[in-house]
Amino acid sequence: MSFSGEVKNQLCQVPVTKDCCALAELYGILLFATVFSAREIRVVTGTAKLPSRVDMLGRRVLQRKGLRELGMTRLPFEKSSAGQGKTVLSLTDEPCLKALFTLLGYEPDKQVVLHLHNWHMEEDCCRTAFLRGAFLAAGYLSDPEKDYYLEITTPHRALGREFLALLGEMGFAAKQVMRRSSCVTYFKESEQIEAFLTMVGAHRAVLTLMEAKVIKDVRNKINRKVNCETANLLRSVEVGQAQAELIRAYLEQFPLETLPEPLQEAAKLRLTYPDEPLSALAKLADPPLTKSGLNHRLTKLIQLAKDALGVTEE
Ligand SMILES: [Zn+2]
Repeated sequence: MSFSGEVKNQLCQVPVTKDCCALAELYGILLFATVFSAREIRVVTGTAKLPSRVDMLGRRVLQRKGLRELGMTRLPFEKSSAGQGKTVLSLTDEPCLKALFTLLGYEPDKQVVLHLHNWHMEEDCCRTAFLRGAFLAAGYLSDPEKDYYLEITTPHRALGREFLALLGEMGFAAKQVMRRSSCVTYFKESEQIEAFLTMVGAHRAVLTLMEAKVIKDVRNKINRKVNCETANLLRSVEVGQAQAELIRAYLEQFPLETLPEPLQEAAKLRLTYPDEPLSALAKLADPPLTKSGLNHRLTKLIQLAKDALGVTEE
């Protein structure tokens, strides 16, 4: 199952303690559903636990004034399969739709542009529940091992704008883009995604995200270190080859024996192993030298060669 699907199934298990929140979450699910019109509300979902969640929320919402009068114990959604593991929940019962729309503050007869009715969300608890509903119906979350990305999509532009404003009021800096005919509200910063998931109750997902972040961070640090060491190694190889070249040029004009013995040894070592870094080269001396001891000799030798050959510093 995708990470997004897992998180949604987790969210379907978040307890709903208050009736106000049951309505707000159901509202989020229905408003962001595939169809939300006076004739039909249709939820198409690949989340296995969502149909029973909708049913549970519906049962609670039906206790409210305005719906109680319908005398129903559950919302009459018809359930069918859309293939590929997707389920369709379709509500077409006219009296029920009418009562539901009225309760949610819409005029069921002239529903063209969808708006977000904030009065269901005066309490923070309800806003949170609404966001959870919207994410359950129309959300997507990338696997944090690959990417940090969370989006909620709606085909209704006005609704998208109002949703963005609601997120802003709640302290989220979401971004928005039109993708084909859909209005996509999204987050790309891991902190924002964590805050959103924490708020809607996806605590396990937050842990997964933080874990992925730590692993990524460690991996980056290791990569940086390896890159840095590689660069140092390349630099030391270049230095060694340049030294060998200079020593060779010197020895073409001056015999090796004219050098003091310690410098002779350093010259031979460098000529034999031009690619070795200083520390390895010091160990190759017989008897082995310290790194700083060899460095001292090589520096002296190079300076001597440069002076003799009239090489000036760049
Ligand atoms: Zn509430």
